[in-house]
Amino acid sequence: MRIDLHSHSRVSDGTSTPAELVAEAAAAGLDVLALTDHDTTAGWDDAAAALPVGLSLVLGIEVSCTTTGGISLHLLAYLPDPTSAGLAEHLRRVREDRLPRLRRMVARMVADGQPITWQQVEDQLPEGSTAGRPHIADALVESGVVGHRDEAFDGLLDSGGPYYERHYAVPALEAVRLVRVAGGVPVIAHPAASARGRTISDETVAQLAAAGLAGLEVDHRDNPPEARARLRGLAADLHLLVTGSSDYHGSGKRNRLGESTTSAETLEAIVAQARSGVEVVTG
Ligand code: AMP
Ligand code: FE
Ligand code: FE
Ligand code: ZN
Repeated sequence: MRIDLHSHSRVSDGTSTPAELVAEAAAAGLDVLALTDHDTTAGWDDAAAALPVGLSLVLGIEVSCTTTGGISLHLLAYLPDPTSAGLAEHLRRVREDRLPRLRRMVARMVADGQPITWQQVEDQLPEGSTAGRPHIADALVESGVVGHRDEAFDGLLDSGGPYYERHYAVPALEAVRLVRVAGGVPVIAHPAASARGRTISDETVAQLAAAGLAGLEVDHRDNPPEARARLRGLAADLHLLVTGSSDYHGSGKRNRLGESTTSAETLEAIVAQARSGVEVVTG
């Protein structure tokens, strides 16, 4: 069984439509794919409707969170009830705040003489999608300023760079609780992805585990090898599940479908913990 539990479509910052994404997953030889767009469930129905025979779909969300210390944390929520009021309200707030945040970044870039306009960014943003820095990157690619999203992130869009602005993110402890209230199963995405900024401490992971965290995404290209060994030990100590996934973003990132995978036993444990009534969709 080839199981990839983290991927993005155009409903956030991936480049494939949900229907294209599930077709690509089948073509890549996956048996199970999780769709985990940033802060939205808007792609769920289209992905489920287009599911190829032989592929199973785990419905999920990647929730933008922050620790009390201001560290950015991404929480994967598997099989949550999307109508659960607390979770839905926080996700709406994140999505709504992402647009003015992007506008602020672009306004500062424009004021600084960078070759970009807000219109160019809007042109890259599919209607109803969760807006993010990759859409600014796409505008810079489109106008030939950079060759690929990567280049924009290495320079103008870097979280430590001159134009970075934060957006509303859900307090991490609350997010773990809200995902459980919604009957979902919370797993921390790429916990040691240091290229994205500061990463969370073992103490923070322990606190989140006490609040209901189910697992850690250990096998992810952004977790360095030595960090993976540490995370595996931490997961064992805290009785957390260990997952692996690609974090595929279509042509927007180098990550390839199925490059890291999750065991069938772990997927079974995740599904067994879900309480929402949202089921794995089989094609
Ligand atoms: P934001 O959520 O708006 O702060 O943007 C962060 C998103 O940008 C993450 O979800 C990543 O998927 C994406 N991202 C980060 N680094 C890169 C990169 N080097 N190339 C392409 N996309 C990236
Ligand atoms: Fe992303
Ligand atoms: Fe992420
Ligand atoms: Zn992701």
